[in-house]
Amino acid sequence: MQISFHGAVQTVTGSQHLITVDGKSLLLDCGLYQGKRDEARSRNRDFAFDAAGVDAVVLSHAHIDHSGNLPNLVKQGFRGKIICTTATADLCGAMLLDSGHIQEEDVQYVNRQRRKHGESPVEPIYTQEDAAEALKYFEGIEYERQYPLWPGVTLTLYDAGHMLGSAIVALDFQSKKGEPARRLVFTGDLGRPHVPLLRDPTNLTAADILLIESTYGSRTHPPIEESAEALKETIRRTSGRGGKVIIPAFAVERTQLLVYLLNKLYHQGELPDIPIYVDSPLAVNVTDIFRRHTAYFDEETQDFLRHEDPDGDIFGFKQLRYIRDVEQSKQLHTLKGPCVIISASGMAEAGRIQHHLKNNIEDSRNTILIVGWQAPNTLGRRLVEQAPVVRIFGMEYHREAEVVTLNGFSNHADQPGLLGWAQAFKPPPEQTFVVHGDPEAAQELATRLRHDLGYPAVMIPSLHQTVEI
Ligand SMILES: [Zn+2]
Repeated sequence: MQISFHGAVQTVTGSQHLITVDGKSLLLDCGLYQGKRDEARSRNRDFAFDAAGVDAVVLSHAHIDHSGNLPNLVKQGFRGKIICTTATADLCGAMLLDSGHIQEEDVQYVNRQRRKHGESPVEPIYTQEDAAEALKYFEGIEYERQYPLWPGVTLTLYDAGHMLGSAIVALDFQSKKGEPARRLVFTGDLGRPHVPLLRDPTNLTAADILLIESTYGSRTHPPIEESAEALKETIRRTSGRGGKVIIPAFAVERTQLLVYLLNKLYHQGELPDIPIYVDSPLAVNVTDIFRRHTAYFDEETQDFLRHEDPDGDIFGFKQLRYIRDVEQSKQLHTLKGPCVIISASGMAEAGRIQHHLKNNIEDSRNTILIVGWQAPNTLGRRLVEQAPVVRIFGMEYHREAEVVTLNGFSNHADQPGLLGWAQAFKPPPEQTFVVHGDPEAAQELATRLRHDLGYPAVMIPSLHQTVEI
């Protein structure tokens, strides 16, 4: 068996691992690499392998850095199945079309710049139409059902607790003459125990080969309860001074988590009586998909639905309104009193949130509430750093609004979470590959796996490295 690591190695983006065994090839994830525009374009456009030669894709979850290059894979000739959970397949239906739209818009911008320099226009990596085509190849399966990929190889997906439909991938290779049966486990992105909505990541006890993510391999998260409490206090404080709370949030998962927490506060009578808006078409579509998959939620959420939420809609309550329409979104700019506006994008780099920030950042009664990790060089990061002046749509704005950052909502396992999950393997896997983490985080997790848990062979692959097992 060979494993080639074509993305999410020593970085957290562009997950793609190609497994070749018995003349067949299987791609684990087909993520979009997100980074500097030129580098991202060339890495995403050209695969390091023959797309048409891949027999099947197994997709761990719907996040774009894991699924976002599937339309391009199909465009370049892939004709196999894309296997994932049914919830992941549904989420990809919304997210890949949205991603196709972003690719089309992005290339328009690039081509305007190229024209100025007398250069010929470039094509988008893929379009919405390509994304729609890729969706035809999806096949959704349920957790913990054995699925024969082809003779001798069985796939089982386990709940990873990271986002709706997220899976830990297990591949069982049947024993052959002279060779024992082997199990390969790929974490995808591993969730945190006790996160609202989601079940805890499934503990597995057997693996011969392990691919483990390391996003927070060197960090410990603050407890989620602290951040939930701070969310309530921030809304009460801001509303008390007549201000608005503006929350940049990813349309998928983070927005639904916030809405669920706000719904609970509403039913506990802890929320001030002010309107709350979710202003993002993608968030509206995705929330509908979440509503269709409530069976995936954890016990606590099921209990809340059964006993405390009389309207039976986990993502709806009296004060909350979803906004899809552009004109309605624009009307939010004229609102006078206190309110909460949740809008995308999560790092405030694009989308409607930029308008809300521009309109509200210069009023000291308002609060900008940051609820997710912000990449360097983004507007979100500038806000976290409490920058006194920020640029939005090319104009300078003096920040008067309060900025509050809550770091406890992460849905990635932290170092204790990763080690706690990894210690369930008895004995430890023979061969472990640490992926999906910046070098320092990957290095620290690798050291801990070796020293604390006695893992015998742990390596951090480099980009496009092939390992023979
Ligand atoms: Zn993820």
